[in-house]
Amino acid sequence: MKKIIPFVSGSDRQITHLWLKYLQDEMSEYNIVLFDDLSKEQKLNAKFAIIANPNPSNILQMKNLKWVQSLWAGVEKLLDSIPNPSFQIVRMVDPVLSNTMAESVLAWTLYLHKNMHLYHSQQRQKIWKPHIETLSKDKNILILGLGKLGLASAFKLKKNGFNVLGWSKSKKQIDEVITYHGDEGLETALKLAHIVVCLLPLTKQTNNLLNKQKLDLLNSNASIINFARAGIIDYDYLVEKLNKSELSHAILDVFYEEPLNCDSLLWENENITILPHISGPTDMASASKIVSKNLKQYYEKGIIPISIDIKKGY
Ligand code: NAP
Repeated sequence: MKKIIPFVSGSDRQITHLWLKYLQDEMSEYNIVLFDDLSKEQKLNAKFAIIANPNPSNILQMKNLKWVQSLWAGVEKLLDSIPNPSFQIVRMVDPVLSNTMAESVLAWTLYLHKNMHLYHSQQRQKIWKPHIETLSKDKNILILGLGKLGLASAFKLKKNGFNVLGWSKSKKQIDEVITYHGDEGLETALKLAHIVVCLLPLTKQTNNLLNKQKLDLLNSNASIINFARAGIIDYDYLVEKLNKSELSHAILDVFYEEPLNCDSLLWENENITILPHISGPTDMASASKIVSKNLKQYYEKGIIPISIDIKKGY
């Protein structure tokens, strides 16, 4: 009999079934079963589950879980709904995903660097006005968070000629990246930044990190790219500053409520580019391979991959 592996998905039916196909094709030695199709006994016997946007009450019904493998890199929502899990949480760590995110960071950095946001708005008003361009080597791109996604982005930006600054919790030394840590380090780095890229996890410490005081440290020609979580930045104050030309532009991929409500004034703001949470999607094929490798290691050697440190929150 094949081992049963629960798959708890909160994604829509079509996406869930696509994931199921990829996962099952990669792991033919197991029987991957959707949560709703599990018997009460199978739920109770489950030591491991694959999860994607799960309904927390489904997870809590599997009382003997030892660990879960998330298909997403960010697990903030899960930690918010189950703050003290009795099981370990392993998030998706995939170089393919890191590279996709780094491509997004490079693309939107170039968008701002090449003043495309200004030309986009000028065209609508039939304004012919060239802007003076700074060389990429003179553009300071500050990456907040030097983890899997931040580091990959820093290296891609560096390869493309930008001057890269990075901020993290612990002190780091990274070739050709000027690194900062701690509150003082953040303040120094913000004052130097032309573009700030947010790639931090949302935790108790990073919640509202870019508040009024921090946003006021930025130069009026600075722009922000938020590819992490909305709660890290005070969006109301950000909008206020954009409206007063105290900041140049914001590329926002993440919002308090997703999808962003049609009534939101953010849609109409010329100084904001709205993206529908697309900067770092998980690739189904490569992610399924990673889940398969992690599962094999667990069942053959009893090793659970590095998991979220609940105290740190990431
Ligand atoms: P990660 O590998 O865990 O890296 C987190 C980084 O943030 C680390 O460098 C860490 O510092 C730093 N950090 C954490 N708390 C901090 C604090 N209080 N002060 C300063 N630095 C702090 O995470 P990741 O894989 O790069 O992912 C980051 C986030 O991206 C996820 O949590 C998720 O929210 C978001 N994400 C978004 C998308 C999207 O499509 N929009 C897709 C995937 C992920 P240390 O290195 O010192 O520990």
